[in-house]
This record gives sequence, C-alpha cells and structure tokens, in this order.
Amino acid sequence: MTKSLLEEVMTVSLRRGILYPTAEIYGGLAGFYDFGPIGTRIRNNLIRLWRTRFVENRDNVFEVSGNTLLPSPVFEASGHLDHFTDPSASCSKGHITRIDQLIEERLKIPAEGKRNDELEAIVREKKLRCPVCGDPLGEVTSFGLMFGTSVGGERRQAFLRPETAQNIFLGFKRVQTAMRAKLPFGVAQIGRSYRNEISPRQSIVRVREFGQMEIEYFVDPDQLDECPLFEELAPIPLNFVTREAQEKAAKQSATDFTSIQISVQEAFEKKYVPNQWMACILGDEVEFFKLLGIPDQAIRFRHMRPEETPHYSGGNFDLEVNLSFGWKEVIGNAYRRDHDLKSHMKGSQKDLSYDLEGAKVIPHVLEPSFGIDRLIYAILEHTYRPQDKTRGWNWFQLPPQLAPYHGVVLPLLNRSELEERATTLYSVCRGQGLDVLYDASGRIGRRYARADEIGIPKAVTIDPQSLEDQTATIRYRDTGDQTRHLISEIPNLLKLQHDFSSFFRLSPKP
Ligand code: ATP
Repeated sequence: MTKSLLEEVMTVSLRRGILYPTAEIYGGLAGFYDFGPIGTRIRNNLIRLWRTRFVENRDNVFEVSGNTLLPSPVFEASGHLDHFTDPSASCSKGHITRIDQLIEERLKIPAEGKRNDELEAIVREKKLRCPVCGDPLGEVTSFGLMFGTSVGGERRQAFLRPETAQNIFLGFKRVQTAMRAKLPFGVAQIGRSYRNEISPRQSIVRVREFGQMEIEYFVDPDQLDECPLFEELAPIPLNFVTREAQEKAAKQSATDFTSIQISVQEAFEKKYVPNQWMACILGDEVEFFKLLGIPDQAIRFRHMRPEETPHYSGGNFDLEVNLSFGWKEVIGNAYRRDHDLKSHMKGSQKDLSYDLEGAKVIPHVLEPSFGIDRLIYAILEHTYRPQDKTRGWNWFQLPPQLAPYHGVVLPLLNRSELEERATTLYSVCRGQGLDVLYDASGRIGRRYARADEIGIPKAVTIDPQSLEDQTATIRYRDTGDQTRHLISEIPNLLKLQHDFSSFFRLSPKP
C-alpha cells in the first residue's frame, strides 16, 4: 500500500530526530509529541524569524513570557470555563467522538458552530455511528477542553491555559505602564498552550500540548483605520475566501471554496475586512510566509462564518494552508473589539482602561494567533521532496533560514590529513557563528543523503585536492551541483544564503 504524504513526512521525521511521540517507550500518550534535536533547531529558527519580524523590528511591540497555569477566575471572566468546549458523543463502549468533525468528514458539510441539538439531529438523520467500533452514538454534549488541576495546600482550582493570549490581557496595565506604551502597541508572547482535544490527529496538526506565537495589538477604537504599516503593505496580494463564496459552495454542495485575489488596500477599501489594521495583519503574514517555503497559492484567508465566530468578534480571518488532507487553519486572526479587557475588568474589578489625554478608553484588540506545531507540519509537508531517478532518497527543501544547520563539513575519505583539514574548517565556521555539522562516517553518498534528509542546504567536502590547492567543493542540496572554492572563502559562502534582512523593514515609529 502506498504511504500518504503525512506518513512519508512522519517516517523521515521520526528517523531523523525531527519529531517523535512523547513517552514513546511507554506506548506514548495520544496528542503529545516531542521535538528531537533536528526538530528543535527548525522550531527555534521559526521562532527566531517570527520574533525578528513581528517583535524586534517593530518599535511598539513588547514581548512577555507568562506562566501556563492560571487560576480559575481568569477563565470564568474570559468565558472559557463555560464556552471552551467541543460537541461530543459517546458510544456504548465508551469511545468519545467529536461530532462536528465527524459530520464534516463523513458528510462533507460545514458543522463547526452548530448547536448540540442540531448536530444530534444530523447524526440521527444520517445514521452516523462511532468511527471506532460502529456502535450507535449517544446524546451530543459539550466536552470541556481545558486541563484542570489544583494548586497548593489550599487546593485552589487552576487550569492550563488553552491559549497564550490571556496572560497578555492580565498583564496589560503592567506592560503599558512599565513601557510607557502609547496606543497603538502590541504585546507578544511565544509559549505553550494546552487543549484536551477529543480526537488528536494528523501528527502535530492537532495535539493536546502545542506552541503558539500570539500578538495582541491594542488600538484606539477611533484609529482602527490608521495602521502605521498600511503604506508598506497596501500592494500585497491576498487569496481571500468571502462568506458569500462559502454560502454559494454550501448551496451547491461543493467541497471547496473559490477564492478571489485582492490587495491589502482593496481588502480595506472594499470592506472585505472590518478595518485597516486587520488588512495589514493579513498582508504582514503573507510577507512572513515568503520565508517559509510554502507557496503563495497554498495559502488563503477565510472569512469565518458567523456561526464559527464568537458573538463579540468584529470578524475572524483564518490563514489556511492547503495540506494533503485539505485546507487547515494555521493562524487565527481575530478582531476582538474590547471584549477581553472589559471581561477582565468585570471579573477582577480592576481598571484596565487607557488614559487617552484625560479620557478613559478601552483599547480594541486585534489578534494574530500562530500555531507553531501546525506551521511546522505545513512547512515540512510543503518542502518534502520524494526520492526520484536522480536522487535515491527523500529530502526536505527547507529554506536556508529554517534549515537545522547552515552546512555540513565532510572529509571525503577516512584519512587523518583530510579529517584534520575538515575539522579545522568546521571550527573556523563555528567560530564565525555558523551552525555547521561535522560528519565523517560512512560513504560520501550516504552522508549527502543524511544531510538532504534534514534539509541542510550545503555540503562542503574536503578531498585530496584540498591538501594541494587549499580548495573544497560545495554541493548544493537543491540541484546536487558542485562548485570548487578556496577554503578561506567557505565560511562566507555558507553565510550568504542566510541574508534575509531585506525581508524585515522597520515599521515607522508610531
Ligand atoms: P481548530 O478549529 O483547528 O481547533 P482553533 O480555531 O480552535 O483551531 P485557535 O483557537 O484560533 O484555533 O488557535 C490559534 C492557532 O493555534 C491555530 O490556528 C492553530 O495553528 C493552533 N492550534 C489550536 N489548536 C491546536 C491543536 N490542538 N494542536 C495544534 N495546534 C493548535
């Protein structure tokens, strides 16, 4: 039987230390994966790129690092305790199934956001059964997605956060005052979130512990159409799925939606999005994706349907990536109005308003929420290259800025003079801040294969000629071509590919 793309990507990922199941030697725990040494490097590089673009190169974005366990009143106020649930039903054998997903997969109709009674009616009418054992399904109920625990001797109830965002709202006043931040400003956080997903699946696409990179942009509600990045981002094209396109597809029972191409400027001026800030956030993400090896045509923004959107939202726009098992949300973009700060003002009885020249204002919030794990899977899938006639192994065409190493240094033969020359070059590269790997074991072809499999863009080989004329060859992962260079030039040649500074323009000072 041929393997699915997901299986192929996972096979290489497991073999090469990109990912593996948590506690694998004990049979694992569904919905939990660890990143191995190679995966951790890719993950760190992704985080570094994100932080550079969205935090460090912006004058008005501050990064915080909050705890993952938060006391119960936080989630009472945020609404998570009551509403952060998924519809589920059990069979007589106790298997629990997420019902909206089951309906979407089996019947190919949208089901997210429907009420439990509506979902149950569909289950009965279409005679859907337990996907594990085929038994009839019971009543559809709401399954709470948060992991709860109790803290200290007094056993105060607490929950692992289901998103990084809440810490940002809780610390809003502290950050604003400490940094003397003026609207508009952003607070960013990179960290872990936890959701007790009913059906974790597709490796790291749906897991129970995952990384998020989120920013809450706090904006004066009267200045939502004055984003300082607009001029820079206005021409960027967006693939966009309107709500009308989704209604049309539903009427025609189509399984996919038609997208249109509009610029950031049009998205704002023709009111596809609620404000200029949202248009810029989408354009900013398209620019960022240029670094990730996912082609433009494989990403789109979908305007979420009303039933998928919370009542307080002024518009949610998911960035979806086309994967081998369908379009998947990788970033959630939400215009949350003043809901979060207002809810926490009510819950905590603390004043979280902003002093705008003597007037008390509750800033409005725009939130881009990136899932790290899902994004990494999307990158792996889109950069995966199966073996072909010219190359007898599978490999990843990772962009150099995400690759786990800048290059690998290889002595061609197992001879001490070659190894000595190669280790010197390796040390010089490391001394210059390059992340290089040294690999001396096995046939050279096998070593190229190992490097390709983890997406290393360049392999430098020291051969007998190197001892005579102080040159070495560089083999380029993407083409297999080789060129010869003076060894003294090698570190610079490895560095060049990493120059991505032009992608990062400083935003104008607010
Ligand atoms: P879904 O509808 O797929 O469950 P969501 O709408 O609940 O996702 P958000 O709450 O918007 O997701 O979270 C923001 C991002 O966090 C998502 O776009 C995704 O990349 C990531 N994310 C959310 N849940 C998971 C999960 N269980 N596993 C991996 N990543 C996740």
